[in-house]
Amino acid sequence: MTDLTSFTIAEAREKLRAKEITATELTDAYLAAIDAANAELNAYVAVTADKARAMAKVSDERLGKGEGGALEGIPLGVKDLYATEGVHTQACSHVLDGFEPRYESTVTANLWADGAVMLGKLNMDEFAMGSSNETSYYGPVKNPWRANGSNKDLVPGGSSGGSATAVSAHLCAAATASDTGGSIRQPAAFTGTVGIKPTYGRCSRFGMVAFASSLDQAGPIARDVRDAAILLKSMASVDDKDTTCVDAPVPDYEAAVGQSVKGMKIGIPAEYRMDGMPEEIEALWQQGIAWLKDAGAEIVDIHLPHTKYALPAYYIVAPAEASSNLARYDGVRYGLRVPGKDIADMYEKTRAEGFGDEIKRRVMIGTYVLSAGYYDAYYLRAQKVRTLIKRDFEIAFDAGVDAILTPATPSAAFGIADQDLHADPVKMYLNDIFTVTVNMAGLPGIAVPAGLDHQGLPLGLQLIGKPFDEDTLFRAGYAIEQAAGRFTPEKWW
Ligand code: GLN
Repeated sequence: MTDLTSFTIAEAREKLRAKEITATELTDAYLAAIDAANAELNAYVAVTADKARAMAKVSDERLGKGEGGALEGIPLGVKDLYATEGVHTQACSHVLDGFEPRYESTVTANLWADGAVMLGKLNMDEFAMGSSNETSYYGPVKNPWRANGSNKDLVPGGSSGGSATAVSAHLCAAATASDTGGSIRQPAAFTGTVGIKPTYGRCSRFGMVAFASSLDQAGPIARDVRDAAILLKSMASVDDKDTTCVDAPVPDYEAAVGQSVKGMKIGIPAEYRMDGMPEEIEALWQQGIAWLKDAGAEIVDIHLPHTKYALPAYYIVAPAEASSNLARYDGVRYGLRVPGKDIADMYEKTRAEGFGDEIKRRVMIGTYVLSAGYYDAYYLRAQKVRTLIKRDFEIAFDAGVDAILTPATPSAAFGIADQDLHADPVKMYLNDIFTVTVNMAGLPGIAVPAGLDHQGLPLGLQLIGKPFDEDTLFRAGYAIEQAAGRFTPEKWW
């Protein structure tokens, strides 16, 4: 019998509707796969087996009557950053120990309303700060991919490392993720999965643990472009509970999948050709250009001159917002409380023990750049740079470019506990060199697997679109997927 966990959302959806399989069978197959794999891969920090089975039962009743939503009976994993009522929600931080919210995030509520089944909460970098899923209080996640002939453990990328591993290793049909500077696209590229960060404002941030509120955006990680389109359609909505969420109907993204890219104008930004970029990444990019050209797209060279300022400006804006958002974790209202001799001592002890090193680094940077003497020199200037980055993209789009093609990451997945990267945080930050610009400009970006490197590890390409033009990304992303094929790791766990 076929392994039920091998089906994409689109395949499972057809089989459920045709009553060839039941939601209960599908859910049990995933729960068994998680049981067998999680001690090794560490993708889930909480498995909600009883809830999953109860939800699957309801789905089976609906499906039995020929009813049900767009995701009826589809088992999903949820990043630990989404508030899920009565269920573990800690953004993988010690400071939120024991926190089980009394409310549901809008994104997850949308998924359950469409009939999806919750398998559990997925590991992530603490408060979504990281590029390797090694800052999690729950320990690192392993990438299901390994280099040819090697048994060295690799990172899945971050911060949505649990989501990427779970999708790649078939421990859920697809997963929610979030992206502040690259946390959907970089892990997707590292695991041979598809990840899309939609336009800022497309998904509600209500009930998502905040990192940097002007950059944070929800999005899916899925096995292929069609599944990403299906999941984004259900995640996105108009929501009064988040004032930055746009009041515009959510398109049927799946309808864009398979539409021709003939005549589409694809921009190639010269500034993404970085010094010291591996030969393989350049070759992959050229391959992507050739594929889109073969599919009928027109390729044009463009310039995004402020690209080099994006990463430094991001590391001012993001920590500034984080230092403000994380001020609420003080041991008073929820989570960890470490007793002290008075309230100030309790605050200090709780934060000292509750936050990991990377969080403390960000809070210190953020507090510094927002301080009275330095606000103009750092924060205000970074905001001005942000406007210039956004304008670079606007000029390209105004000149008729429909989407921009770039590599997704400067390398393939690296080893867990890589000495070089841990010795210098800036080296870790460089992982997001191609992805942060998109967050700074509020644009949509998709990462699609495009090939394997010389060690047999997945590499991805990124497409960047106009605001609220995710459709074009699904069209062009699908053209790449058709040419590149799909990538599944060999099972060793
Ligand atoms: N790696 C980046 C950071 O650590 C981006 C993280 C994210 O997108 N959440 O800030």
